[in-house]
Order: sequence, then structure tokens, then C-alpha cells
Amino acid sequence: MRQLLCTLALACAVTASFAQTAPSAVARPEAASAIAQPEGASALRAKPGWATRTFAVAAANPLATEAGYTMLRAGGSAVDAAVAVQTVLSLVEPQSSGIGGGAFLLHFDGKAIQAFDGRETAPATATPALFLKPDGQPMAMRQATVGGRSVGAPGVVPMLALAHRQHGKLPWAQLFAPAIALARDGFAVSPRMATLLAAETDLKTDPVAARYFFDASGQPWPAGHILRNPELAAVLQRIASEGPSALTEGTVAQAIAAKVQGHASNPGGLTANDLSAYQPIERTPLCMAYRVAQAPPRNYRLCGMPPPSSGMLAVGQILGTLAHTPASTLALEAEKPGAPWLHLYTEAARLAFADRAQFVADPQFVSAPEGGWASLLDDAYLAQRATLISPNGPRMPRALPGQAGAVRSSYAPMAAQTEHGTSHISVVDAWGNALAMTTTIEDAWGARLMVNRGVGLEGGFLLNNQLTDFSFAPTGADGKLVANRVEPGKRPRSSMSPTLVFDADSGQLLATLGSPGGAFIIHFTAKTLYALLHWGLNAQTAIDLPNFGVMDEVLVLEKGRFDAATASALRARGHTVVQVPLPSGLQAIARTPTGWFGGADPRREGVVLGD
Ligand code: GLU
Repeated sequence: MRQLLCTLALACAVTASFAQTAPSAVARPEAASAIAQPEGASALRAKPGWATRTFAVAAANPLATEAGYTMLRAGGSAVDAAVAVQTVLSLVEPQSSGIGGGAFLLHFDGKAIQAFDGRETAPATATPALFLKPDGQPMAMRQATVGGRSVGAPGVVPMLALAHRQHGKLPWAQLFAPAIALARDGFAVSPRMATLLAAETDLKTDPVAARYFFDASGQPWPAGHILRNPELAAVLQRIASEGPSALTEGTVAQAIAAKVQGHASNPGGLTANDLSAYQPIERTPLCMAYRVAQAPPRNYRLCGMPPPSSGMLAVGQILGTLAHTPASTLALEAEKPGAPWLHLYTEAARLAFADRAQFVADPQFVSAPEGGWASLLDDAYLAQRATLISPNGPRMPRALPGQAGAVRSSYAPMAAQTEHGTSHISVVDAWGNALAMTTTIEDAWGARLMVNRGVGLEGGFLLNNQLTDFSFAPTGADGKLVANRVEPGKRPRSSMSPTLVFDADSGQLLATLGSPGGAFIIHFTAKTLYALLHWGLNAQTAIDLPNFGVMDEVLVLEKGRFDAATASALRARGHTVVQVPLPSGLQAIARTPTGWFGGADPRREGVVLGD
């Protein structure tokens, strides 16, 4: 139990407590469609955690982490590192994120916290019926995803350019050098990319992707195959020299629009005008006070993205509601959360997800509850929500949305929907800046559309299917509108939860973290935060803890990580329990007395580097 003694404030010895048998095949759970995970599982690999003194970068692929490290060593800032990481991820982890997608970035410069929104937007011609079939029923997720229909105007490059203008130290063009060299000279296909490629059926339907990701006989490239992407090298070179307009205007934008509109069976409405109109948005971050009463008590400040992400609201509501239950008296049992704690967590999460379904959407299109979004994190409101939880069970029959202010919401709640390919980057630099950035093309391989300008170079980049994060049904059963319905120019609700943790008393940054995982991002992030703040785990052992979550009223435990007694104790409290792989991709860096300690998820290929 050595790691239990290790707190954010104490030096944490390197521990590798993750000793699961590695499932080698991709497993896509079929238990319930809402529980299907964004990306399949690949092999588990125990990670040691990494101690650094001055700076650190954590990303989901070693080549991407190395690119960020190169920038930090060259005197670059956290944002410089993030640009280098993202451009390499576009190449080496194309299933998860890339220049054809969107992202949220939370930044701290030692004084101010900023929230950069690079979320995709719906085309000007989009209508609330975008994902309805002719009979008025919502489309199946796959029918909606594959093709041009689901593609929103990508925002990650414009957003990074905005953040770089404010916080960059190295020249923009320099940040692209690692990705351009790897795209031109080739990189070894990683085991995870090979595993996900082997399991993928729709990518081949796109001729550009079929030529790039598969050999002449249609077989996916195996791990270790050296893949070159000269088209992406050329596009990145142009963005490096001209800025984001090289992507959002001119020949690249025209190629994106033509790809989306030209899809044979499922065209979309995105135009070159939608791309050139795209604006990243700087938003006010959403922060909450969070007190851990155990001795010695500590006052934290948790900060995350406001809507259109539901991430911080839900993570904050879960932790804030748990604070009004006996949860904090419950230690880990055999180094895992036990059934009594999981029951409380599940109930708190069900309440948070009920509010999420009711209220959260693009703030340019819907109003926050009376008193603003922060009213949903208000301690008195959460204390009242917590009274709905029976500490020892049974489970509450239905979790309904609450009413944070005097005004009742006029929206219908959004039904649970699968959300699916994402990656998380955490960086602390030598200048006192830190960031948490979660970046996505939505489903694994996005819309399965690979953009190529047609100038004779192989490869290209994948387009997102982010519009499927909107509610497919624009109205509820009672005819009321759903807040997160499709509307022109609107940004779909997200679950991405890039999070920064501060000491509320000193203002010092204590940790940066986040994860992919669709709606389960909220649970993965809440778990890691709870483990860091309450159970004294370090960034690695917190990430390693078994995953769990609740989705569509079903309690989901990470397969093979909980014993039968835990599952039956939860069933005895009335929960429906399923056990499926839950492939998070957590990355976290936490302060220690001697510097930083970073962790990367054993369920994916990430590493941490720093000095
Ligand atoms: N598109 C999802 C969101 O923005 C993320 C999907 C994933 O993590 O795979 O919430």
C-alpha cells in the first residue's frame, strides 16, 4: 500500500502496480449500444510513472511526446509543446485526433486561467433534422457517422494558433518540424494503430484512406510498417509557413468541402465558407472550490471547460455531490474502490448526467440555468441533490434533472447517445505555464474521409464526425426542444474534460489531467481526481485504478478488474451491472515537492517526458 501514502504534496516513489493480464484482441463491447467505447481496447502495458524537475509533457504516443519534449528543451512554452504534439498525433494516432478535428485547451500562465474552445461547428445549412431518417426516426450511429453528413468545420488548428499568439515562445513554423519530418521520412505504425486498423471496416470505403492505410491486397498495415504521408507533410508545411488559413482557406479548404459534399451515399453540407468563417473562442473557465476534509484538510480549486463541454460541470457535480455523502470516509478496498463507494459514486453520477442531458449545449444557442453555469456547481444545490441518495442503497429509481435557480428549464432531456477517437495532452513548462488539452475527431477514424488535394502525393488527413455529438432527436417525447439539437453554426455538446487543479489557498497549480472515452471521459477524469485528492495516489497509480462509470442508467465496471463480490454487492443495491473493457487514455502530471510526477494510461501507448 505504499502508494496510498503518496500524496500530491509528497514525493511519490515510482510504482508499477498495474499487473493485469493483457487482452491482445480488440474488444468492442456489445452489452448496450450506449456503453460501446469510442475506441477499442489494445494491449495493456504497465507504466512506471515519470518524475521530472522542471517541465514535463504527457501524450498518448511516444513520438508525439518526444516532439513536445523537443520544444520544451528548446525553451518552448507549454503551448509550443502542444502544437508539436498535436501535429505529430495527426500523423501517428490518426484514429483519435488531428488537424481535421477539434479540441479544448485549458491554459494557466502562472496568473490567469484561460479556456480555449476549438470545437467544430455545424455548417450554415445544417438543420435539426440532420440525423433523422425520412420516417422521422433518429438514424443509426454508423449511418450518421460514415460520410460527409457528420463533418463539422475543424477547429483545432485555428485554436492552437490563437493560443500560440498569446503564449508561444518559439516560432510557429518550428513547431511543425517534427511532424513534417516524420510524415516525409516515415514512422513505424504503432501496435495500437495496427490493432484498431485491423478491426476497422468502414475506412476502406474511402479510396484515399484505402490506399494509405492498407496494402494493395486490402490488408491493414501491421505494427512496425514504415508509413509515409507526403500529402500531410505538404499540408503541414503550408500551415507552418502561412498559418491556419492554409487549412481553412484556399485549396485545402476546397478539398475538404469537396470531400464532404462529394460523398456518394451520405454527403454533407460543409462548405469552404463554413471553414473560412470558423473562429476559435476564448471562454471563461469554469472553476469550483473543492475541500477535502480529511486531515490535514486541503482547499482545492478545480478548473475545466465550460459549455459546450459538459465535462467540468459533470465532473464537478459528481465530486461536489459526493462531498455531501459518506464517500470520503471510505478508503480503497484491496487497492480498488469498494462497493459502498461505487454505489455513492454511481448515484452522484446519475444525478450529474441527468442535469447534463437537460441543460448542456452550446452557450451561444442556449441559456445557462438562472445564475449561470456555475449555479449547477453551487454547494447548496449539490447538497440538496445529495439528499436524493440513500447511502446504503437502494439505488434511486430514476435520476431526474434538478433545478438550480428559480426558473424551470423549458428543454427536453437528451437521450443517452454513444460518443466516440480522442487523445489527451498535459504539459507543464519551465516558465510556469501549464495546460490540459483534449483533442478529438470523435469516433475512431472520424467520418472515415481522408482529405487529399489531388496533387499526386499519397496520404492526407482524416475528417471528424463531431456533429454526431448533437442530439439526433431535436425534440423530446413531450414535443419540447432538446438543448443540444443540431442548429446552423452551433457547436455540439462535448464530454471532454481537460482539468487543472490548484491549491485554493496559494493559487499554485497542482495537477493537469484528462482523457478520451466519450461520455466516460467524465468518469475517467472524476476517478483520477478522486484518487489524487482523496486516496493519495500518484499520477500513475491514480490512472491505473480500475475504471468504472454509469451510462444510460447502467453501472459499468472495467472488465477483469473487479471481483464478483463487488459486482454482486452493487446488484444487491439495485444496480444493473455490466463488465466491459473501458479503454481510457488518461494522462496526468502532478506536482511533488521535488518537481513533477507524470502518469500515462497503461491502456494506451502514452508516455511522459521531461527534465
Ligand atoms: N466526441 C467526444 C466529445 O467531444 C469525445 C469522443 C471520445 O472521447 O472518443 O465528448
